[in-house]
Amino acid sequence: MKLLIAMMSHETNTFSPVPTELERFGSGELPPRDQAAYQATFGRGSTMAGMIAVAEQAGVEIITPIAAGAPPSGRVSDTAYQYITDCIVEAAEGCDGLLLDLHGAMVTDTREDGEGSLLVRLREAYPDVPIGVGLDMHANLYPAMVSNATVIAGYHTYPHIDMYGTGERAAQILIRSLNGEIEPRMVWGNCPMLPHVMRQGTDDFPNKALQERVMEMEASGALAVSLFTGFPHADIYNAGLSVVVVTDNDVEEAAALRDELLEIAWKERESFVYQIKPLFESVGSANAAADASGSGPVILLDHYDNTASGGTMDTTEVLREILAQELEDVVAFGIFDPAAVQQMVDVGVGQEVTVTIGARFQMDALEQQSEPLTVTGTVRLISDGKFTITGPMATGSRVNMGTTVVLDTGRVEIIVISRHVEPYDLGCFTSLGIDPLKKRFVMLKSRIHYRAVFMPIAKSIIECAGCGVCTSDYSQLTFENVRRPIYPLDNINSASLSEGFPASQ
Ligand SMILES: [Zn+2]
Repeated sequence: MKLLIAMMSHETNTFSPVPTELERFGSGELPPRDQAAYQATFGRGSTMAGMIAVAEQAGVEIITPIAAGAPPSGRVSDTAYQYITDCIVEAAEGCDGLLLDLHGAMVTDTREDGEGSLLVRLREAYPDVPIGVGLDMHANLYPAMVSNATVIAGYHTYPHIDMYGTGERAAQILIRSLNGEIEPRMVWGNCPMLPHVMRQGTDDFPNKALQERVMEMEASGALAVSLFTGFPHADIYNAGLSVVVVTDNDVEEAAALRDELLEIAWKERESFVYQIKPLFESVGSANAAADASGSGPVILLDHYDNTASGGTMDTTEVLREILAQELEDVVAFGIFDPAAVQQMVDVGVGQEVTVTIGARFQMDALEQQSEPLTVTGTVRLISDGKFTITGPMATGSRVNMGTTVVLDTGRVEIIVISRHVEPYDLGCFTSLGIDPLKKRFVMLKSRIHYRAVFMPIAKSIIECAGCGVCTSDYSQLTFENVRRPIYPLDNINSASLSEGFPASQ
């Protein structure tokens, strides 16, 4: 038996001005292929790594034509998409099964459903070859993805600490199916709702309860059950919450489980709505929070500019407010500004510099633009910005922040980076010789992923409404393509999903 295992992963924020060319899928180079793709993946905490582990355990031959994963950003260029999909489709020739680590929210220059288009092409070229797919919880599901795959398995956690297990699950089902042990049958459906990303964490109700029910269903015999909270910063028809259930040849059971989950999600839709506080008040409450009992830093969360949701990572409004309110003993991660980094590298470690940082991107999707911030401080450290993740998310993966500078203003240590990286691992600080536990305040440009390592060490969390293309205020965005009506953009009062909003089949 010969299996193809490949990755094509991107969460596309259609409001983001950050370009997505091919090099973004390979940390600044071409994405790794063949043996290099295997080496870049094996033993890491990714979906593709879980697929490889199961296939190797089963003793089957594998090929890994490409491992293309890019941090979230704007629409994927058609050229990049063509390169990656050609590579997968050509390599699939002669394979008995295909295992694909796809995100599930890829929008290209000309396609709303990048993953579905790939699966259609594979199905046309290889009509009888089973296809197993692993998807992120932020997948925006389309019919073409379901009808052209044999099995779909999605994450059960956000922060995503079960990527590896998701890959294992998809691979196990596909291999059992190839061995004739099971006959996977899949159904799906969606709700007319856009759960707010800040309310999607699996530490919180209602997604905690929903994912617990999902896992109960799997423990009770369903092959794979996935509830996708979806990615709302994509102005595409099928953005939003959906469910996929795979059973062993029991479509009725699969449909019943799907309907149960969709009904629960719909009934709890108000709990998926996020309430925003003014920035001045949030930062104004920081000193009282830091003076409260307990240990660890207070996290100041700049959630409008999360690079792992397509943020430019260069908006300055939260940092500006921190400086204006004169908070002491702060470390901020981070501001993406390669030009400012170069300017500080030229000045050198130990030197004082006045530099203007941030707000380099024009954000056409927003009326509010960020303003550049001029700061004076000492260049404390210059680093190549590379480290290995030790935390529970994507464990073992290499991170490349690009050339990185720590600028110390006296009150605030500002980390200025040259590549987009969300701070979901302590390495963002410890690789620069900074211990966040010893700080009074830690500013993070993140939304939920920071929780995996920072929640256990934090005294408290203060969510700060800044500025950016992953704004938590949906009214700042213009939705033209998402299906309507959809909650909460539209107020839908139906108590039950079945009242006028039947699930898709
Ligand atoms: Zn995600």
